[in-house]
Amino acid sequence: MSSPTRREVLAVLSTASFAALLGGSFVAHADSTGRPDYFSKTLDIEHLWRLQRDMGRVLSSGLVTEHPTIRKYFAGFEYSPPEDFPDARSLLVIAARDPIVELDVHHGGVHHRLVAAPGYTRADRKPGALLERVLADAFGEREVRKERARLPVKLLAARAGLAEYGRNNIAYVDGLGSYLALIAFYTDQPATGRWHPVRRLRQCRSCRLCVEECPTKAIHRERPVIDAGRCVSLYNELAEPMPEWIPAEAHNTLVGCMRCQLDCPANRELIDEREWLAALDERETAVVLAGGGDAAVEESIRSKLARFTLAADLAHFGQNLRLLLEGGNPVPGRTRS
Ligand code: SF4
Ligand code: SF4
Repeated sequence: MSSPTRREVLAVLSTASFAALLGGSFVAHADSTGRPDYFSKTLDIEHLWRLQRDMGRVLSSGLVTEHPTIRKYFAGFEYSPPEDFPDARSLLVIAARDPIVELDVHHGGVHHRLVAAPGYTRADRKPGALLERVLADAFGEREVRKERARLPVKLLAARAGLAEYGRNNIAYVDGLGSYLALIAFYTDQPATGRWHPVRRLRQCRSCRLCVEECPTKAIHRERPVIDAGRCVSLYNELAEPMPEWIPAEAHNTLVGCMRCQLDCPANRELIDEREWLAALDERETAVVLAGGGDAAVEESIRSKLARFTLAADLAHFGQNLRLLLEGGNPVPGRTRS
């Protein structure tokens, strides 16, 4: 296959548009603040080959990092439904609300309120109750077979007309900003959505804030694809020693990185969208920093933080917490005590 032109890559990743984004979405179960829990779209399964073609173009563009973790992630996609699901007819993609979470940590007589980026609680890993609501809203009383799809969900959401890309390559959905988790399923129901051009946020036209804010210069002013091999999130998601080239002050959350999202104009309405998780006392914080060592305290930490995926691995949690407390530049907490 010949290499795609820059124009073709841009067509996949960064076509700007003022067109309305969310016509035809299902919206349900707004909370007490009136914010939606999720948006969803369906696409006919016939579009799978186009999704695979899009990803092929991006991967062969020379713009995507060769970092083995990222390449392994891309290699894990499967562009066909499970063999025992020959009746699959549609792709259902859900953008579920997933706010920044906050955790109180007491250490050395000081109280720290620290944050974790969206995407590290259970929303996308155990979507059970949410999924049942989405299916009921989308298909009513009908019995629906669904199977999790291992697909490039950001691209799928963009092609389904559900999400737009920011210059930071993060997916944004109107009403949820970038504080969301994307989840995809095959279903045996017919699709109602259509294939869309990939769009970039209209706010990006006159904005370069994320380029300035990124602590490792992973976002390029004009290049459509960020250098994911320089992204802080990639490294603090891995339970491996932190590379020395990342400056201490680049660390800003317990897991993930918020520098290119916090002040993004497309998140302006959501600045107070935070969810408080729990408080760790001095003893619990010491055990996290040590990566464990006291079974009873470890149990207490895991029970308090059952929804927080990082807490399942205290050594990894401890490394990230240490980086934040010793030289990091933490995003300040906002929720009330
Ligand atoms: S900070 Fe500005 S340039 Fe970056 S994604 Fe948001 S709107 Fe686009
Ligand atoms: S998540 Fe952080 S390191 Fe990655 S691109 Fe955004 S600001 Fe840069």
